[in-house]
Amino acid sequence: MNPPGNTVARLAPGQQPPYYLPHGNEVQLFEQCHQNRLAVMLKGPTGCGKTRFVEYMAWKLGRPLVTVSCHDDLTASDLIGRFLIRHNDTVWHDGPLAAAVRQGAICYLDEVVEARQDTIVVLHPLTDHRRILPMDKTGEVLEAPPGFQLVISYNPGYQRMLKDLKPSTRQRFVALDFEFPPAEREAQIVAAESGIDAAQATALVALAHKLRAFQDRGLAEVPSTRLLVATAGLISRGIPAREACYAGLVSPLSDDASLAGAMRDLVDLSF
Ligand code: ADP
Repeated sequence: MNPPGNTVARLAPGQQPPYYLPHGNEVQLFEQCHQNRLAVMLKGPTGCGKTRFVEYMAWKLGRPLVTVSCHDDLTASDLIGRFLIRHNDTVWHDGPLAAAVRQGAICYLDEVVEARQDTIVVLHPLTDHRRILPMDKTGEVLEAPPGFQLVISYNPGYQRMLKDLKPSTRQRFVALDFEFPPAEREAQIVAAESGIDAAQATALVALAHKLRAFQDRGLAEVPSTRLLVATAGLISRGIPAREACYAGLVSPLSDDASLAGAMRDLVDLSF
């Protein structure tokens, strides 16, 4: 049973390949980690392509994918499983982590720092040579098959001082660093994902680069590739570019009138 906000998705092997444009040699690195049964940590800002990368790798490696969006109420039982009452009987129900271990899936824990430390600790025996998941409530010890792989993601810039992974957890993962793609590639992604033409995609990405500089002026989150794709989607459906940028890029990023005003001025200069 998954609590609200904790989504589980499975991608069947053989499904159409998810579109993913590599930044560097992350595909080869991940393949090596998979073959060597190493857990992987994806570090990078929100909306820069981490989830899409895992979806692509799951497809490429022919593994099912189990995705868990972490939050601060996520308990070890939410991951491992619990007994449920059904027709006056108690029935064991695997959580997403146990289900992923059983089927040799890639288990992707998105925004793992959101989870409590006592929840994160249940991952430890899966990330060393033991590759086991002890299930205290049933007395079972699941051994991970070769296809199982643990992948976590987190955004190092976000709530940096408040939340961080413990060194004892970090050292169990190979880390792949993600950034927003270089302008030319980001424009390629935006065009491919939304259907807008190359010139519009290039202009949108150039605008995003200027808006990203607003971080120095107090903007908490900079416009991600995800926001650019969403904005481009509005443009491709006939919304005028300026309006699409106000609604898709400026408004979601700030409630501060002067910051939003300055960002809108940049939009007007771009389109
Ligand atoms: P994250 O998991 O880092 O928050 P996502 O993987 O959800 O971000 O990426 C957000 C969106 O940006 C994706 O849905 C996709 O449209 C686009 N995207 C970002 N990077 C890439 C890439 N390298 N190849 C293809 N699409 C990408």
